[in-house]
Amino acid sequence: MKNGCIYCGVTEDLSKSDIIPDALTNAKMINPNVCRIKHNNDFSDMFEAEVIQKLALITNELDIKSSKGKNYASYESIITVGDTDYNAKITSETELFGGKKKMRSVDGKYLLGPIDEIKKIKAANDTNVSEIDVNQMEIEKRVPLDLSVFFSMAMYRMVAKIGFEWYCAKNKVMSKIDDFTPIIDFITRSNGGKVVSIVSNPEIYALFNNMVNYGSHALLSYVSKDNSVNVIINLFGIAIYNVRVCDKPLDGCKYNVLFQELTLDAKHICFSDTDIENLQEHFINSFEPTNIGDGLTAMIPKDMTDKTLKYKLMYVTNYELFFEKLNLIDEPTQEVITLILNNIQSLLQESAITIRGLKRFVKEHWKHFEQGIRLNPKGTNKKSIFMFYMLFIIGQSNGKIKNIHDLYTVIKDKFSSDTINISDEMSNKLHEEMLSNESHSELMTKGAKIIESWSFE
Ligand SMILES: [Zn+2]
Repeated sequence: MKNGCIYCGVTEDLSKSDIIPDALTNAKMINPNVCRIKHNNDFSDMFEAEVIQKLALITNELDIKSSKGKNYASYESIITVGDTDYNAKITSETELFGGKKKMRSVDGKYLLGPIDEIKKIKAANDTNVSEIDVNQMEIEKRVPLDLSVFFSMAMYRMVAKIGFEWYCAKNKVMSKIDDFTPIIDFITRSNGGKVVSIVSNPEIYALFNNMVNYGSHALLSYVSKDNSVNVIINLFGIAIYNVRVCDKPLDGCKYNVLFQELTLDAKHICFSDTDIENLQEHFINSFEPTNIGDGLTAMIPKDMTDKTLKYKLMYVTNYELFFEKLNLIDEPTQEVITLILNNIQSLLQESAITIRGLKRFVKEHWKHFEQGIRLNPKGTNKKSIFMFYMLFIIGQSNGKIKNIHDLYTVIKDKFSSDTINISDEMSNKLHEEMLSNESHSELMTKGAKIIESWSFE
């Protein structure tokens, strides 16, 4: 039998669908049984594009870029320079004062831009144009956040699509199955309710926050107390959804205990099993009793490199929570809004040091390196101060930091931790340390050139 589309069954013109839209992840995951136009390309206009556009700030901050586009997603922000607020749609802070960009103040009274560009304006003259040095001014960026995207129909349809295509791909579903009709109707026509709900248990948010990496997506399937098959989707570690895939386990779909994490550096960590009993048995069997002396025996993993063990342990020990204790809601409560808001805030405050992020930073600041970097003594962007500091210590290391792993080791020594929370105090300290070194500009340029020479892994 020929393969067919999992949505409609047609066997002609099948295509590979990105299960999670390519603009929302660096890690690719595909379902090959989706017809090209109606159930792949058209979903983009129907709901994916809206979500992608509204999450631009998040993907931009996490250095996630669609392979189709040249640039990182742009987002609306308000830039305060001195005492005046300006509106700006930006993809990176460096473009604010580079190039030819002009910004209009929120009150409409001022234009800010390169002096040569401003002077070209007809009405410009000596009385209404003044020159300022942005390297000596306090500059602050604020980004208005609209949380409603997390509770929008577009988001629910996209999440349902991700859960459905993922579950089908893992179970090698080769064509349309009638038991999936409710979820197919919901995705394709937003018909019917109760397919997607918001998970509101704080303990589930805590569980995922502790387990998965910064900025990752995580998917997990389980069979619920009512015998329905569900997929929990944790998007960027921000919001958690429950997708009801079908009313009961199906003969053709053997794997109902599934887990996958997709990390920012494009790694996949996954396991699959048929049911919870088998998972428990397989989990126990991945350890063996080992004599550790003094008559003591310890259970040691048979394969010490197996990265899935901690995820399996999480699944096994929290199974009851998924099975019967999930608190699923249709409308956001204040409690869920607070959980999501806190997750966004910590995501935007923390930073993952990746090759991708470092290379992007160097590329966006390249002009500054060529002209010799001048650190703004009043600069307050904590993330970029931290990135400049990375270049600074790489430059300072005199060739000792040869790759990202050397850098991680140095960071760990210096900050005595894997994760660094860049507080105001820490940021000020790093900023002062750099400014007090007379050759900080040369060192950063040196560091930037070293990063340029590193290759992706
Ligand atoms: Zn189709």
